[in-house]
Amino acid sequence: MAYPDLAKFGPFVQQQHLDIRDMIMRFAQEQLAPGAHERDLLAAFPAELIGELAALGGMSMKTAAEDDGPGLDNVGYALSIEAISRFDPSVAVVAVASNLAAAILARHATPDQRERFVKPIARGEKGAVSFALTEPGAGSDAAGIKTRAVRDGDGWVLDGSKQWITGGSHAKVFTVFAKTPGEGGDDKAVSCFAVEAGTAGFSLGRGQDGPEVIRHRPAVLRGMPGAACEPDRQAG
Ligand SMILES: Cc1cc2nc3c(=O)[nH]c(=O)nc-3n(C[C@H](O)[C@H](O)[C@H](O)COP(=O)(O)OP(=O)(O)OC[C@H]3O[C@@H](n4cnc5c(N)ncnc54)[C@H](O)[C@@H]3O)c2cc1C
Repeated sequence: MAYPDLAKFGPFVQQQHLDIRDMIMRFAQEQLAPGAHERDLLAAFPAELIGELAALGGMSMKTAAEDDGPGLDNVGYALSIEAISRFDPSVAVVAVASNLAAAILARHATPDQRERFVKPIARGEKGAVSFALTEPGAGSDAAGIKTRAVRDGDGWVLDGSKQWITGGSHAKVFTVFAKTPGEGGDDKAVSCFAVEAGTAGFSLGRGQDGPEVIRHRPAVLRGMPGAACEPDRQAG
């Protein structure tokens, strides 16, 4: 829709932002709104609808066009999240977590990870990505995380637990934050790992009223095809 009085949206909003916002809003109004209240009452996760939104680019909005993403700037992203929130705030929370995780991957991925994670996520093939930072003992104080990652051959072993992980029960990919002492930074250095659900040693706890707990001690990848480490199976 052409907005003749574009100026009323402020100096940063352009017609192309509104075109994208309108497309997302149409999806939210037609597809998400009808069952949103009932899903909230039942604590049901709309995996199929989230998959459809992901196919529209909604779970990886700021990923660049060369990585198969929509390449939105912050204004387009904010307007799109606002449009989803208007009709299904729960899905908007999932989208925010996924977009945060996807943006980190898009910015820092190695060429291998770009093919393996960033592009499939941008195309919607992985649904919503989960962002796994919070732990039982570390929320606001993100530097207080206890999860550790140590090198093992070409791969890494992660050891720790996370909680409040939005969309964790259905995510195929998690961005997991862990301390990496002795990796060139100081002992407080934190790294982010792309971890696929189903990785040996990774397990998912039961969510209570929402975000899930994940526990993992997996072999994970960071730039190496086929992590060579043996996962520790004592994960609990
Ligand atoms: C719906 C929902 C979804 C979430 N999704 C995710 C997710 O996808 N991924 C993820 O990693 N995490 C997620 N979280 C976790 C969220 O990021 C944490 O809850 C948040 O960081 C706060 O941590 P905490 O709950 O441990 O509270 P705490 O950090 O223990 O804080 C408790 C209270 O103390 C206050 N406080 C803390 N530090 C200070 C300080 N220095 N000075 C003054 N006051 C302080 C806080 O403001 C708060 O009121 C989610 C949480 C919710 C509720």
